[in-house]
Amino acid sequence: MENKNYPANRLDLSFYREELPRGNRVALAQAITLAESTRSEDVASANQLIEQLLPHTGNSVRIGITGVPGVGKSTFIEALGKYLTSLNYKIAVLAIDPSSTKTKGSILGDKTRMEELARDKHAFIRPTATGNALGGVTDKTREAILLCEAAGYNVILIETVGVGQSETAVRNLSDFFLLLMLAGAGDELQGIKKGIMEMADAVVITKADGDNLKRANQAKADIQHALHIFSDSDSGWKPKVITSSASEKKGIQETWNLVQEYVRFAREKNFFDELRIRQNLIWFQERMQQLIKQQITESPELNEQIKILEKKIIDRKILPARAAQEIISNYFKI
Ligand code: GDP
Repeated sequence: MENKNYPANRLDLSFYREELPRGNRVALAQAITLAESTRSEDVASANQLIEQLLPHTGNSVRIGITGVPGVGKSTFIEALGKYLTSLNYKIAVLAIDPSSTKTKGSILGDKTRMEELARDKHAFIRPTATGNALGGVTDKTREAILLCEAAGYNVILIETVGVGQSETAVRNLSDFFLLLMLAGAGDELQGIKKGIMEMADAVVITKADGDNLKRANQAKADIQHALHIFSDSDSGWKPKVITSSASEKKGIQETWNLVQEYVRFAREKNFFDELRIRQNLIWFQERMQQLIKQQITESPELNEQIKILEKKIIDRKILPARAAQEIISNYFKI
């Protein structure tokens, strides 16, 4: 039903409710746009819609993918995506780009990336969500995941640039977390914070081809060794290391086999659903904190008081902790 386009009224939820489960991509794109809106009536409608669609959600594997710029993320995602569509999966690619507000999403939102996958009718690529803060962008991505699932996408790839702050956000909304690394001359572990490696369910050494092949194999051994030192993850899963060349289509099938192995493992341990429940509780907590923050910054009355308190802090007349307490007390009075 791809010919059914825009609803007469953008808040006509029955349009999305009927068209998404039919796999209408236009309706999916519009529903995500609705969810990304900051207008309060849109937010309320999007929440209502997603809640109504919940029975159609959840049937996917959500794979988080991170790595420093240039590591080969888009090339790898395109190769993995094409491989999966050839197996009849429906792939959605979403992105969290913490720098998007400054660069207008140019890092991940660039239309020239993943051109071949973008033309595949079983793939849906959505450039970066926009938002003022990482929390906001993360929230929108969570909603986009559910909408994609409702539209029948059963592998969701959530990409982020490895610059530090967004990895935890992506980890908190994926089932499986993949870290892409480049084999360097003895500096394999540099530039990647230990904490990020600890979150990974698998590490993929990219560009394992040509002159780089030997170095990649060495890096694989080094990283495998480094991963052994970490304590066991909550699920008991032992992270694996794979070498891959996206340009030579190597290590792609192996990566997917590993994801499937993980899913079987996590389901057997009842960890798969448990992790998603935990992630929903994190979502709840984060959203609550965001809403409180937003209400404070949007209140002219409180903003006035904040300015006065800031002056007092500068003049060393009040302890910052007490000033914060005062604002919170006033917030609850309003
Ligand atoms: P991203 O910034 O992490 O998304 O990285 P890209 O996918 O854009 O790749 C960065 C550069 O590495 C590009 O010039 C790619 O052509 C190159 N590249 C990506 N994958 C491979 C690979 O498997 N082998 C080789 N030799 N080069 C690759």
